[in-house]
Amino acid sequence: MNLCNIRTVKDIMARYGTDTKKGFGQNFLINPAIPEDIAEESYSYHTRENGMGESAVLEIGPGIGALTAQLCERYDKVVAVEIDKTLIPILGETLGEYSNVRVINEDFLKLDLKSFLKEEFNSTPVSVCANLPYYITTPIIMKLLEESRDEGRCMLTSLTVMVQKEVADRLCATEKDSEYGAITASLNYYGRVKKLFTVAPGNFLPAPSVTSAVIRIELYKESPYSVKDEKTLFEVISGAFAQRRKTMLNSLSSSLGFVSKERIGQIITELGFDINIRGERLSVADFCALADKIYEEKKK
Ligand code: SAM
Repeated sequence: MNLCNIRTVKDIMARYGTDTKKGFGQNFLINPAIPEDIAEESYSYHTRENGMGESAVLEIGPGIGALTAQLCERYDKVVAVEIDKTLIPILGETLGEYSNVRVINEDFLKLDLKSFLKEEFNSTPVSVCANLPYYITTPIIMKLLEESRDEGRCMLTSLTVMVQKEVADRLCATEKDSEYGAITASLNYYGRVKKLFTVAPGNFLPAPSVTSAVIRIELYKESPYSVKDEKTLFEVISGAFAQRRKTMLNSLSSSLGFVSKERIGQIITELGFDINIRGERLSVADFCALADKIYEEKKK
């Protein structure tokens, strides 16, 4: 079955008495070359990093299975989490020929991810591959980054995901770009981001109003950045960007209740930064140095 044929998509959904739901961010791929390219980008990196042993992939939001089928062709094991219960019997039909897939009807954001990864995949290396629902792109990516570590080691190899182009630009920004923000700095702590290709609205049913882009977040097994307390690091990053038009000193002093403005100012200058510097000028390594000093204050 060609799962990227508009007629097929419409017919199968009508046959099961359902339709695409805007509320779940449903924009299904209708150009077969795209799920093939996304799956290939994911799998080639996965094997480059892990060799040709048993492979596994987690997909969030399989829809009617266009990308899932391509993942089933490549990976040994595919687990797909779909929130929309009306799509589950459809996936039973469209993926019927594959015995290496398991579809789970859950809200991905509500999963206990660490236990889920251990239960589903045990010690098999896992990658994530998805055409993400745009209304929750950032929470999904942050959950994958924050909750996939076990005793400091990341259980995931990479995230190959389609997002809005604008979000991709933000995630791929460096501290010289205007798009650089809290999510960029946090993400750089966990891995490297690569923009792979853009996808025009006409490749989806229904067509979204914006261009999309496929990115790959290549996760560090262990972060190359060392920090005394990760929680403080992320508090400092989000505090530094909380009020973007303010200097980092002002933004941090309104969000970190436990250190005085005067002490934050001293720390900024002790680290060799201009007192009027803004958060968007700091690399993740700079944030780690800042967080370590702020953590010392927290402990007092
Ligand atoms: N993978 C399909 C494709 O590329 O054609 C569909 C992608 S569509 C952009 C996003 C999918 O994510 C939809 O199937 C939607 O129902 C699902 N979804 C939305 N919110 C979700 C959530 N919280 N947990 C799991 N799946 C979700």
